[in-house]
Amino acid sequence: MQQSALYIVPTPIGNLEDITMRAIRVLKEATLIAAEDTRHSGVMLERLGITPKKMISCYDQTEEARAQGIIAEIKNGGSVALISDAGSPLINDPGYKVVRECARSGVKVVPLPGPCAVITALECAGLPTDAFRFNGFFPVKEKELSDTLLGIASSDCTQIFYEAPRRILKTSQMMAELIPEHEVALCRELTKTFESVYRMKAKELPAFLSADPDTQRGEFVVVIGRADVKNDEALEKAREAVAQIMQNSSPKTVSAVISALTGVRKRDLYEYASSLKKAP
Ligand code: SAM
Repeated sequence: MQQSALYIVPTPIGNLEDITMRAIRVLKEATLIAAEDTRHSGVMLERLGITPKKMISCYDQTEEARAQGIIAEIKNGGSVALISDAGSPLINDPGYKVVRECARSGVKVVPLPGPCAVITALECAGLPTDAFRFNGFFPVKEKELSDTLLGIASSDCTQIFYEAPRRILKTSQMMAELIPEHEVALCRELTKTFESVYRMKAKELPAFLSADPDTQRGEFVVVIGRADVKNDEALEKAREAVAQIMQNSSPKTVSAVISALTGVRKRDLYEYASSLKKAP
């Protein structure tokens, strides 16, 4: 019997062969499997020849309540495997609150390495991997999306987002408009039959995706290269921004320009700029 603990078990993101031998053993031996969706995971477990001893659902709305039952199971000598629908639990998936409560209660938490779309995409994007930031899904609202893109315009690290197929074209259009010179890798259907990686400048994406609707299907990870400070166009934009500030120093303009350059939220800068304006 395996050690009493909470085991964080990654599952495949598209290719069943990507489950690890350790994950299979932990799932087989677990006295309880806590799954984001028991029906969905039930199919995968059956394909792997695993019959759960006990299974409960544990998703965003229930995980806080589930945590105490999971802790009790482990304190009574059991072992619990936490899985999500695909990939690594907690990475844009439920699990954080369960881990937090286990840690607070002194219950051992054992993380297993395994499939994760962020890392899989980063590995094939062809963009710098020394420093990167994962941001979850792009915001859905247009204003928040444009703020997010302007916020990363001058980023000094690779930025990674998840995106839904129904929004990939719209998001690409916004990227083309707001960060046209950035190198982007659209990583689609990773580990699956139609796995594809489209690498190009942001300004080239809309025409590429529009030319073939099939390129908009499936699951996506969007990897965006850091700002190229030597880039002529970026330099020209920066000079334009400086010229704008010189001409017009209203809090609105100053906060918009500095926000676009630094990624600091415009609202925060606006409040600060306004307070400076009011100060005697
Ligand atoms: N926990 C998962 C992980 O470890 O990557 C992510 C869960 S999140 C709810 C699901 C999103 O991850 C999808 O909408 C898509 O953006 C991305 N994703 C998952 N599997 C993918 C795949 N095979 N190819 C590309 N993106 C994928």
